[in-house]
Amino acid sequence: MNYLILVNKFEPLPAGFTDEIKLKDVCGRLFESQTAECLEMMLYAASSDGIDIGVLSGYRSEEYQQMLWEREISREMGKGLSYNEATSLVSRTLALPGCSEHSTGLAADLCTPSADDTEVFFYKTEQGKWLCRHAQEYGFILRYPRMKEHLTGIDYEPWHYRYVGQEAARLITESGICLEEFLHFYSDKYTTC
Ligand SMILES: [Zn+2]
Repeated sequence: MNYLILVNKFEPLPAGFTDEIKLKDVCGRLFESQTAECLEMMLYAASSDGIDIGVLSGYRSEEYQQMLWEREISREMGKGLSYNEATSLVSRTLALPGCSEHSTGLAADLCTPSADDTEVFFYKTEQGKWLCRHAQEYGFILRYPRMKEHLTGIDYEPWHYRYVGQEAARLITESGICLEEFLHFYSDKYTTC
């Protein structure tokens, strides 16, 4: 399993990747098995610090991503946008089918216990702050940081965490780089992780 796999709008999920993922349930959502174990440890550690973190989204099949994509495009077109306008707006916050990290089983959308959707102000909550401080210890990174939108192709998403393994997570977080930069600078050293 390549925990450093890059999936974005320029690098779609390789064919057959999904068939090899072993999925495991955490809080009613599915994750790749090692990701699930680390996520459970992270949620347990947060709760030991008195902070309950909810899990909104985990693994999504490509079919499900396609459905989300079509739903959002038609919603925006219903507001009067052209197809091209809708596509360019929606692609800033939702990955194209086949290009979503959620299809790898390595990504988690996290939230406060009362939230039923992702929140822009999640970074201001106790949960968001705790994750910024500790996620790297469990192998997770904030995947779409501020000021890296030109590299990730996705707007800032304080709720979306991605499992990459502890060593890479520490280096990425401490250096303030995103996964795209990490792979550009360090791929020789870490591609066998
Ligand atoms: Zn997400």
